Amino acid sequence: MPTTPLPGPRQGPGHGPDPGLSCLERPRPDEVHVLVLGLDGLAAALAVRLLRCGVLGLYVSDPAAVTTADLGTGAYRPADVGRSREAALRRRLRELDPRCAPVSAPELFPGALLPGTVVVHSAAHPASAPAGRVLPGAAAPEAWAGIDPRHPVVSLHHADGVLLRWPTVPWAHRPCPDCVGATLGGGQPGEAPRGRAAVLAAWAAPAHAEAVAVRLAVEVLAVALASLCGADGREGGSAARDGARHAALYAPPWPDAVSWLRLDRSRCLCGLDQE
Ligand SMILES: [Zn+2]
Repeated sequence: MPTTPLPGPRQGPGHGPDPGLSCLERPRPDEVHVLVLGLDGLAAALAVRLLRCGVLGLYVSDPAAVTTADLGTGAYRPADVGRSREAALRRRLRELDPRCAPVSAPELFPGALLPGTVVVHSAAHPASAPAGRVLPGAAAPEAWAGIDPRHPVVSLHHADGVLLRWPTVPWAHRPCPDCVGATLGGGQPGEAPRGRAAVLAAWAAPAHAEAVAVRLAVEVLAVALASLCGADGREGGSAARDGARHAALYAPPWPDAVSWLRLDRSRCLCGLDQE
């Protein structure tokens, strides 16, 4: 007897059967929908990991060209350089699992009333990176208008060789460049590595990005599960969800060396209700 929930409004706690009962089975492959906006090497590797975990509802959007900087995580191949990221990744995902038919039209992404949706937004951040060190290709969030503001968004910001993962918030509260810059500037990353440590950090950067993509894949699955089970569901990945409530900074070379940042919310309401 199927116990997986059907699309529709969630029942609140105390109404009807125990909402946790509907979350005791692994979601169906077509029950989770992830929209990835910005397809740098890390975000593309994240999409590949999600597919390997059985997520077939993948929407990938970034018309920018694949560059050699995107190749390290293995999601793209050298022959993809110069082709559009979304077209290259769609082909890669289809090759990995023919049941997956990725879509590059964010406007076709389901509305937030359908449980199990997550938006991943990955972008380079000129506000906090020194001039000339901005990673190429990531488009601004303003390029994606019309996204339902209620979707949970996992927001990734590349700046000067480190990755900031913003707390999971609704799309309407995704951070602005000022808040990301202020948060990065107010705490870590601390001193950039020098000498041999700098060599190792640069050398291991692709492996680091791949390891971070694995961690982020678990976080995205936890967010999707929380959405499917209702925000008050006690089952499944509560530790991972709690972790996603804090801003995390990942700097190479060690993927387990995570800094937890305090949000600077002096400027606006980015990250509202988080931390
Ligand atoms: Zn802000």
